[in-house]
Amino acid sequence: MTAVTTQRDVVYNAHRQHLKVAVHAADTTSIQTAIDAGADSIEHGNDAKDEQLRKMRDKGIFLDLTPTSYSSFFLKIMGRA
Ligand SMILES: [Zn+2]
Repeated sequence: MTAVTTQRDVVYNAHRQHLKVAVHAADTTSIQTAIDAGADSIEHGNDAKDEQLRKMRDKGIFLDLTPTSYSSFFLKIMGRA
């Protein structure tokens, strides 16, 4: 069973219960897995390629940049780190 197949099962069962599925995915492979599995939202999405972002838009997959994961980045640019 592949990661996509497993995630598809999770998404299928969640949707049957009228639940949404959010996937925390940062690298291109995990982002693609989430897209292919039919996730409702992708958290982080750091390495998303343009084509993946287009697919997400077309499929109505929400992108949540999850800014808390970048707290050290924001602190650095604000001169507080
Ligand atoms: Zn996360």
